[in-house]
Amino acid sequence: MNAKLDPLSGLKSELSRDQRFLIDGEWRLAANGLLFDTHDPATGTVIARVAEAGAEDVAAAVAAARRSVRARTWTGLSADARAQVLWRFAELLEAHGAELANLEVLNNGMPITFAHWMVSASATWLRYYAGSIARIHGKTAGDAMNESDRAMHAYTAREPVGVVGLIIPWNGPIGTFVMKVAPALAAGCACIVKPAENTPLTALRLGALALEAGVPPGVLNVLPGLGPVAGAALVAHPDVDKVSFTGSTEVGKQIVRSAAANLKRVTLELGGKSPCIVCDDADLDVAIPAAAMAILANSGQVCFAGSRLYAGSKVFDRVVAGIVEFASKLALGSGFEPTTALGPLISRKQRDRVLAYVECGRKEGATVAYQGTVPASDGYFVAPTVFVNSDVNARIAREEIFGPVLVATRMDDLDEIVQAANDTRYGLGAGVFTRDLSKAHRLAQALQSGNVWVNCYGLVHPTMPFGGYKESGWGREMSSEGLEAFLETKSVFMQL
Ligand code: NAP
Ligand code: MG
Repeated sequence: MNAKLDPLSGLKSELSRDQRFLIDGEWRLAANGLLFDTHDPATGTVIARVAEAGAEDVAAAVAAARRSVRARTWTGLSADARAQVLWRFAELLEAHGAELANLEVLNNGMPITFAHWMVSASATWLRYYAGSIARIHGKTAGDAMNESDRAMHAYTAREPVGVVGLIIPWNGPIGTFVMKVAPALAAGCACIVKPAENTPLTALRLGALALEAGVPPGVLNVLPGLGPVAGAALVAHPDVDKVSFTGSTEVGKQIVRSAAANLKRVTLELGGKSPCIVCDDADLDVAIPAAAMAILANSGQVCFAGSRLYAGSKVFDRVVAGIVEFASKLALGSGFEPTTALGPLISRKQRDRVLAYVECGRKEGATVAYQGTVPASDGYFVAPTVFVNSDVNARIAREEIFGPVLVATRMDDLDEIVQAANDTRYGLGAGVFTRDLSKAHRLAQALQSGNVWVNCYGLVHPTMPFGGYKESGWGREMSSEGLEAFLETKSVFMQL
């Protein structure tokens, strides 16, 4: 890599120090002194040592968050003052955009263009929620409550849920941080963020920028650590009022079980096995690149990755050939190279897991229509792989792989396609490509999925709720629904 692209040039001295975490506005080491290594997935090298939160640190963060809730250090500010803080946070994100994007590429491996998009999208989401703060208010029941012998004044008040644990994954660290923190702060909650073990660095940086923007100490705490230790302690803590989690369905279920102890509120954004349906009448110039990127974006490490393709007989061969041609032109490599379209997977473990699925697909009898090549590197690269002729019950056709692996199936009858597309425990995303308006509406209605994209794929926007049906999750993020998830409603009856 040439010197001008060296991602470490500006960050080196910062990363050579042990990375402290954020509790109550202070940068601390873990109470038990533990540190863990974090890696560059493009090279496998250690880039920093990070303080590893244990149960004691989680308890300290929860106590700090609770103190801030009791003292109303955040909700005591005017709506306008809080909106200005979120707005400043957005501005700081943009002002530090290059640094944040570099840090994201270094720790996550994603292409730099994607990292820049994530920073600017996150700033937009913060501004959306900054604008929503002044609109949080209850309703009055008015005269409807009056009886002949009594007059009532009845109203609802909206209040923050309280102390919230926000557990985020490694596949989009900046975006998933902001997607949770922005509505939580807008609602007036105090947050403890547990970033993924693989990607703690941008979360810590975002914590620092939030403080600089004026989020009061204790209102936003950032605690990197291990899921089964710090994450589990946060979920089990009796003084946490809500957990919002993004990650695997398996851990989501563990969280539900643990949250039952104090019935804390839980929202979950989990996995998927999302179908992409290309009808015979589709505009293939639109459908092919969109269906290809549906599975290849972020090297397939996307919760709504379009990992199952269904295409009509008349276009099936052309669609598969088109996706293969599209994939073969995408460069795999370091996210810092401007030509890179596909970065490495996050870790050796994830690479081995995805490669095991590819092997499993072969053994199960599916045909490999395409498998690309990986760069000679110690990075965790996996080549795009396209399977055809897979059995519907094969593991590659049913389980979330979380890598650039597509299973393509030829299918014509619309009812059969709907049946196959819905025959999964998941329901996060679905793509439909057709020029036939009534077919588009019919499919949009019939697909059991939190998101349906017609003649496009994977759009996420702050005005649109995002979340899953079935085992893809509970609740919605983004939009007013994302804000609602951090609010309680109080009904007040007052007899006059
Ligand atoms: P994961 O374990 O579900 O990780 C998500 C977050 O939960 C991380 O911060 C993780 O910490 C934390 N966590 C893990 N165990 C926990 C527990 N018992 N209590 C509380 N928090 C806990 O996901 P993963 O192991 O990184 O990836 C495995 C698979 O999950 C992937 O292959 C993919 O299929 C799926 N996944 C889905 C998404 C999505 O966006 N829906 C994102 C990531 C992964 P650690 O980082 O320390 O484990
Ligand atoms: Mg895990």
